[in-house]
Amino acid sequence: MRGWLPTGGGLRDEDWARRHRLLTMLLASTVPGLTVFGAARGGLDADWLVTVLLVLPCVVGAVLLPARRLPSIAVAAGFTVACAGFVAMSDGLTESHFSFFVAVAALALYRDWAPFGAFLVSTTLHHAVFGTLVSEHTYDHRSAELHPFTWALLHGLAVLLAAAFQVVAWRLTEAEERRAEDNLAESRAQLSVAFDETPVPMAMLAPDGRLLRTNSAYRSWLGLPAELPPGFGVADLPMTAVDPAEAGVFEALTQATDPVTFTTAYRRHDDGSIMHVEVHSNGLRDRNGKLRLVFVHCMDVTRQQEHEAALRRQVRQDSLTGLLSRAAFEVDLFAMLSADAAPASVLYLDVDRFKTINDGSGHSAGDDVLRALADRVTRTVPAGSLVARLGGDEFVVALPGPQETGVRVGRAVLAALAEPLPVAGAQLQIALSIGLAVAHGPRQAEQAVLAADTAMYAAKRAGGNRLELFNDDMRVAVQQRITAESRLRQALDGRREATLPVWFQPIVSPATGLIVGAEALVRMWTMEGELLAPGHFIAAAEETGLVVPLGEHVLAQALRHLHRWRDELGYVSVNVSPRQLSEPGFVPMLAGLLAASGLDDPARLVLEITETALLSNSVDLQDRLHALKALGVRIALDDFGTGYSSLTWLQSVPADIVKLDRSFVAGLAGDPRKASIISAVLWLARSLGMSVVAEGVEDIADWDALRTADCPAIQGYYFSRPLTPDDMHTMLVRPRELSLEAA
Ligand code: C2E
Ligand code: CA
Ligand code: CA
Repeated sequence: MRGWLPTGGGLRDEDWARRHRLLTMLLASTVPGLTVFGAARGGLDADWLVTVLLVLPCVVGAVLLPARRLPSIAVAAGFTVACAGFVAMSDGLTESHFSFFVAVAALALYRDWAPFGAFLVSTTLHHAVFGTLVSEHTYDHRSAELHPFTWALLHGLAVLLAAAFQVVAWRLTEAEERRAEDNLAESRAQLSVAFDETPVPMAMLAPDGRLLRTNSAYRSWLGLPAELPPGFGVADLPMTAVDPAEAGVFEALTQATDPVTFTTAYRRHDDGSIMHVEVHSNGLRDRNGKLRLVFVHCMDVTRQQEHEAALRRQVRQDSLTGLLSRAAFEVDLFAMLSADAAPASVLYLDVDRFKTINDGSGHSAGDDVLRALADRVTRTVPAGSLVARLGGDEFVVALPGPQETGVRVGRAVLAALAEPLPVAGAQLQIALSIGLAVAHGPRQAEQAVLAADTAMYAAKRAGGNRLELFNDDMRVAVQQRITAESRLRQALDGRREATLPVWFQPIVSPATGLIVGAEALVRMWTMEGELLAPGHFIAAAEETGLVVPLGEHVLAQALRHLHRWRDELGYVSVNVSPRQLSEPGFVPMLAGLLAASGLDDPARLVLEITETALLSNSVDLQDRLHALKALGVRIALDDFGTGYSSLTWLQSVPADIVKLDRSFVAGLAGDPRKASIISAVLWLARSLGMSVVAEGVEDIADWDALRTADCPAIQGYYFSRPLTPDDMHTMLVRPRELSLEAA
């Protein structure tokens, strides 16, 4: 029984005070209430006066007495007096006794035994005493007037029963509250185990970036104090995104509606080291969809990334031919040049017209050719030479000895290829272009490879199937390339958005004069404050591999701007160089950028790949293109008309857009031959379901000719030169009134 009874007194102080104020006011209001009642009954009598004189001290007691018990008992006593007075003033009318039940319900608000008990006892006492002394003022029927004690007990019992139900309600509420509290305490405990005690750094952030709560793993990871200063936010964290474009990542987080994950490189302020952080973030929204907090959970993946990089470095073998990989060759050449004082000859080999061979005999046959060639070269060069495949159909050989040794070995390789290669049961005649350079000492290793490559190009230009030595004229070209490379490295190390701005050239529909897309074209600011066009550095970027980070930067910028112009611009077109495309990480990188870009439709990104890249590059390029297509992006065949492809070759390429090269387009208005080739390409492209962009349109005559020929899109100085993003923005938001329409 005892256990079943409510404990009472469980209200919090402020809740109790609010209820007490309400009940005190209710009690005080009985004074004017009884006064009006008395006046209406025909005059204020002694009953009224006694009642009011007793109620008022109770009100004063309720206001002034300390702690909880006494003031609540004062209220209970006041209620008893007011009810009794009411009964007396109405001459014991049965209905006036209802007021006691109202008072029971009201006093239950205290959820305390004291006022409740005081009221029960004083009510029963009142009925007994007054029933005896002034029974006709207490009851209004005979039986009660004759047996006041019995009726006092009966009334007391009724009040007790009313009270009992209040007790039940009270008891149930208490139990429910206790359960809710237990649940809350349990979830708090669970949260604190899951949040505070896990080794994974976690934080809860307000939508404005303030850190609301962090766990100890998070604080020790970033070296933060246990108590963060008030208002401490993401901007105060002791780290900076390495790529400035990623500085605003938190903004993106607050806009994401689904959980997101991304990896960012940061420089730590404490020791300056770079760390790679994978952040998983989850937004918590309220019923109205308003963001309440962002929950982030960080993983330092620096070790993992370093491990992967190390693994990549360790890949010493070219998987196709079993020769050394590029990385292994660089290491071994350095070692060879460090080992003794003698110079080393570096031969750079490239297959002439490999593309034709590849196409003539199919792709897997292309692989066979490369393997057979690797075999023949390895057998021809002296033992102890380094032989590597650098990718595609490019090989390099290094051996100790001066230039004469290199020349002898190079000639031997050319001679060995006079004999056809056995490929898949057939005999295949191939030729090589070879460049030779000599390195003295390890510091010249890299330069020598570059020089041999340059000489190889000279051999190619001279018709192929020959050996060319690196000479001083070539040195100037190499010097320029080296300058370009060091400038590019500096620019890549800087704030890329500023040092390598990406400009946009509109692509327009001649039929409507509206901008349908834009090509992203990178520029470079040198340390000397000169703005360079890509012609000055793309080749160097390509050769050194710097085009990989450069290209990623351009893609990220292009996507960022496309997002900004999502309502104004149909698509953005980005140049992708062969070297970029052949990087194994290219497709995953692009997938990552796309996922992070918030782009609604990946087809709004077009990748421009040059015709020559497709013609000359390695066999697995086709797979790469299909992997890109699987991401949903579109592919444009850039500079079409500069290679040696036939028109029918077009149908074997998974391209969506053909970009007619400037040399092909410029002056077409005055050249019937050009015009008819263009019509043929337009017709063919249309029948293959490809679109066409004519590049390099500089004057109105060509514009008109292309419009008449129904060319779907045009890019050229006539409409606009490449523009800074700001100028492009202006042009997009306030489309230029075209005089072209009239033309
Ligand atoms: P592209 O892909 O053929 O780009 C078109 C080039 O033609 C741009 O030169 C553009 O400014 C120029 N052009 C456009 N309209 C006209 C015209 O009416 N007349 C004339 N004379 N030229 C016009 P830009 O910006 O100097 O780019 C040169 C090349 O550099 C590009 O040729 C592209 O192959 C390469 N490139 C540019 N940006 C990137 C990049 O981000 N990544 C890579 N890999 N290559 C890039
Ligand atoms: Ca292009
Ligand atoms: Ca082009």
